[in-house]
Amino acid sequence: MTVRPHLLLTPGPTPLHPAAREALGGESLGHMDPEVFALNGEIQADLRTLYGAPDGTFTALLAGTGSLGMEAGFANLAEPGDEVLIGVNGSFGARMAEMAARHGAHVRTVTAAPGEPLSPAAFADALAGGDVRLVAVVHGETSTGVLNPLPEIAEAVRGSGALLSVDAVTTAGMQPFDMAGLGADYVYTGSQKCLSAPPGVAPIAVSGRALARHAARRTPTALWYADFAGLRDYWEGHSYHHTVPVGLHFALHAALRAALDEGLPQRQVRAAEVGRGVLAALEPLGFSPFVPDPAQRLPTVLALRLPPGLDDAATRAALRARSVSVAGGMGPTAGQIWRLGLMGEGARPALYHRFLTELEAVLGVRGAASRFEQVLGTHA
Ligand SMILES: *Cc1c(COP(=O)(O)O)cnc(C)c1O
Repeated sequence: MTVRPHLLLTPGPTPLHPAAREALGGESLGHMDPEVFALNGEIQADLRTLYGAPDGTFTALLAGTGSLGMEAGFANLAEPGDEVLIGVNGSFGARMAEMAARHGAHVRTVTAAPGEPLSPAAFADALAGGDVRLVAVVHGETSTGVLNPLPEIAEAVRGSGALLSVDAVTTAGMQPFDMAGLGADYVYTGSQKCLSAPPGVAPIAVSGRALARHAARRTPTALWYADFAGLRDYWEGHSYHHTVPVGLHFALHAALRAALDEGLPQRQVRAAEVGRGVLAALEPLGFSPFVPDPAQRLPTVLALRLPPGLDDAATRAALRARSVSVAGGMGPTAGQIWRLGLMGEGARPALYHRFLTELEAVLGVRGAASRFEQVLGTHA
């Protein structure tokens, strides 16, 4: 089967970085070859930079997508009967609560309505007087485009004795991340989001405190495949645990290097600029931000309410027929919003310029692409 060039503007997967694409075509090597251990060592060092990890942090790739990163946190850091506190203001927070419950945790939630951020004070209240072992929060909720106030939530958790797990899938790699400053114990992302590598590996970071907590478990980690001890056997001890996807390691390594070479602050600016341009282009057509307060908006996922009367499914199908993909809503926002990805290679002016041109054709309107050019200037 042949596939035409496609404009993938969803909030994951994102278009492949050229360096990742090239790395995918490299030599076949074994997972125990010295070149691969050297490659893994470079990946581990670059992940410490990506996450702003303190000394003593273990970094690695899991052989799976971001959801495996999510599940590995609960499998390793919560034991049956442990109190786990989870922030839920969208589909990914809800997924965390489901996973933690399946691993036998006693789940309590702090909730907010879709489109609204979680309240740090609610975390402080929930932690007071309880015996919470682990707090888990999604930094950027992809399903609604909300940026949760992570520094303030982390502050509420620090000193409580609970470990803090952060889903950084839509943030790490597109802005500086400060695991050390936050005092976070477990952080993960997926290769196909902000790093624009192929899906299939989940970069993780585990703090020294979390490793100590893991070593003191009363029960074995129920997810053998992603047991931190087994992962360390391979990544640190260089002994066989499972066959890692070497080709994906090469691709992730190239994409991660490219991200760090570009600079995380620069990538943050790039996503913000393209997002500003897209909003300026679309607001006159009747699109409006799903999250009213700009300070609560996730810079990497632009969630837009549709203009009254616009047929979500038909319009996206017409775009798809022109080889352009954008995402609709999830769960309660299905049919009401679009979600435009501004992660990694998705946050490129040329791509969004083409999207706006195609959208003009589908809707039979004009002016969107030129408004975008006015905001982006020569970048467009
Ligand atoms: C995409 C995503 C995940 C992981 O999803 P996968 O499809 O398993 O890669 C987890 N959390 C958030 C916030 C996400 O956007």
